[in-house]
Amino acid sequence: MTHSENIFFHKTDNSRRKFIASVGMIAGAEVLLSIPFVSKAANFITPTETVTVGDIMNRFIKDVPGGVLKETVDTLKSGSADMKVKGIVTTMFATVEVIKKTIALDANFIIAHEPTFYNHEDDVAWLKGDAVYQYKLDLLKQNNITVWRNHDYIHRLVPDGVTMGILEQLDWKKYSEKSLPNLINIPSVSLKELIGYLKTKLGIEQVRFIGDVNQTCKKILFEPGAAGRNMQIGGIRQYKPDVLICGEISEWETAEYVRDARAKGDAVSLIVLGHIASEEPGSTFMLNWLKEKFPSIKSTHIPAGNSLSFL
Ligand SMILES: [Zn+2]
Repeated sequence: MTHSENIFFHKTDNSRRKFIASVGMIAGAEVLLSIPFVSKAANFITPTETVTVGDIMNRFIKDVPGGVLKETVDTLKSGSADMKVKGIVTTMFATVEVIKKTIALDANFIIAHEPTFYNHEDDVAWLKGDAVYQYKLDLLKQNNITVWRNHDYIHRLVPDGVTMGILEQLDWKKYSEKSLPNLINIPSVSLKELIGYLKTKLGIEQVRFIGDVNQTCKKILFEPGAAGRNMQIGGIRQYKPDVLICGEISEWETAEYVRDARAKGDAVSLIVLGHIASEEPGSTFMLNWLKEKFPSIKSTHIPAGNSLSFL
């Protein structure tokens, strides 16, 4: 893997990526992305013209190096590509609450970064007969809401759209390395100051961390989402950052590695922001993209918020 590949996808377990778009689709959803929507270029659409879900997807994918992916989790989770778009909501998760807010806004297209049905592939066979799944599915169907997951595509933008959203929100674009924007050299601060800055800028109540709060931090490796052990521990080994900032970790893997590294004498710290908090700025990136490319459509970012609370 090279720097230019933008390797910090939030999920790197290959087995989870090997998803064929035609497998595990829910009833009513179309098989997407195996058929490129090449006929309708959104560039020339005027405010009076009809814009469909497919138009927006095609326009986004046009910006992605490599174009349409044969295997991707970025499929429609409800609705259809032919649906005329009334309004768009960008979010991390199409939660029941986000869906209800979408309906209240009279919007009908949700672009979510993460799965709708509780697993990476949005496989729903195992949820058959489940009341929670059925409740959400009915809510989507009865209100004609289309949900598209934009995960693989936004991460494949060069530079990665989620990372760009984060750097923008943290005002760190100027400190990030061109070849690998996840590597950031900030003016020296203490770990305590750095944590305070992240909490303020990202609106986080509390973070978990490993390290000495007085340690000086300058070189940061930022891996949003759940990049996994190989990327997180591998990133520490390769780049030797003062601090690794993650969305989500496996406590029994990355945290234990950092603990032992510190016991050995390495000055490496770890900050765990929470998955949603670490990637929510990606939905702001998506919103700004929509406003630029489809200014005639009302687009709104509805933060999914953190599912877990602190006490
Ligand atoms: Zn992500």
